[in-house]
Amino acid sequence: MSISQLARSIQESPTLKLNETAALLREKGEPVIHLGGGEPKSKTPMDAILSCTAALNSGEVRYAPADGIPALKKAVIRYTEEHYKRLVAPENVIISSGAKQSIMVLLHAILDPKDEVVFPSPYWVSYPEMVKLAGGVPVVAHAQDGTFQPTIQDIEQVVGSYTKAIIINSPNNPSGQVYSKQFIAEVVEFCEKKNLYLIMDDTYNRLIFDGQTPSNCYEYAKDLTESSKLVLINCVSKMFAMTGFRIGWAVANKALVRVMANIQSQETSGPATPSQWAAVGALNGIQSSIETLRMTLENNRNVLVSRLQAIPGVKVTKPGGTFYCFPDFSAYEKDSQKLARFLLDRVRVVTVPGKEFGREGHLRVSFCGALGEIKQGVERIQWALDPNSPNELYIGGRKLVRDWA
Ligand code: PMP
Repeated sequence: MSISQLARSIQESPTLKLNETAALLREKGEPVIHLGGGEPKSKTPMDAILSCTAALNSGEVRYAPADGIPALKKAVIRYTEEHYKRLVAPENVIISSGAKQSIMVLLHAILDPKDEVVFPSPYWVSYPEMVKLAGGVPVVAHAQDGTFQPTIQDIEQVVGSYTKAIIINSPNNPSGQVYSKQFIAEVVEFCEKKNLYLIMDDTYNRLIFDGQTPSNCYEYAKDLTESSKLVLINCVSKMFAMTGFRIGWAVANKALVRVMANIQSQETSGPATPSQWAAVGALNGIQSSIETLRMTLENNRNVLVSRLQAIPGVKVTKPGGTFYCFPDFSAYEKDSQKLARFLLDRVRVVTVPGKEFGREGHLRVSFCGALGEIKQGVERIQWALDPNSPNELYIGGRKLVRDWA
């Protein structure tokens, strides 16, 4: 088969692949515990369902403006005003098929071949591949101190004459780190000074713990005019547990949104309208589901962290947000792919290798699932790794014997 050089350079999404592997094993009756997932298990808010079904019941489901239906743009404008204290116009908003497509059309709109896009490690698995798809070069800023909190110096060190944009994702997938407000302020200032695009991926912005308040990039921006290169990315996927609807958006300057809309119009003609109406319902409806989800996640996080900390040698940094924890397992195995495979093979626990996120020795462990599964999953991990654990473990009515060192 003849495929393009570009296609050959792109890897399959490891997290989506893990979902498939877990589903296949479950189908075979294997007692799999999926701690690799990237979506909350709560149900779609009722307001979203009602709004979506009303659109479907009309029987009029047709092409709509490629950059989003006016009702959803209006809801996004209201959301941006409420949560970011910033009033934007409909021409500043583009609705896409998930935050992923918003980022993708944005990269297509701004990158020329060889242009570089910088992001700190650990990073969301998709950033490098998306940058490559758009013809650019991904550049990772490694934290000098080895923590999950990057510094402006880490960023500055890898910014050069080819740098076009910086992507910042806080709270961060996979570490759960809520970046300090000082760092956000410094990046905003740095990008304005260097005339770089700043892509703020706020996908998990509302899912934060310990009484923290979400950061607001606009607070630190000096340039809030139409020449601003600050782009805010958001979606209903995580905060409303609506991953399957595939609705996200970008807020940016009008000229950039126009170009992004042109690209999107040629790619998909815009997101599915029933999904857009669902997002209108979610954004305009009762908001209590976000707080309920946030509290559930905070409780899950507390349980997960305390159990992981009980495994000798595992280094845990407490996540301040998201539903991911990124412990360091290198005391047991430095090769994270090997370790994830071992845990899947031996105790049927799915985790995501840290290598995919640019940090070896770590595993991404999700706490978006049921508490019982989280507890059992960590119990299995501990049993498999800790040489002091008992010789036998029962999973799904099956006796496992520890026959490895
Ligand atoms: N950004 C980050 C950091 C994410 O983790 C994800 C989803 N895993 C996305 C963007 C994409 O969100 P969506 O499902 O809305 O495309």
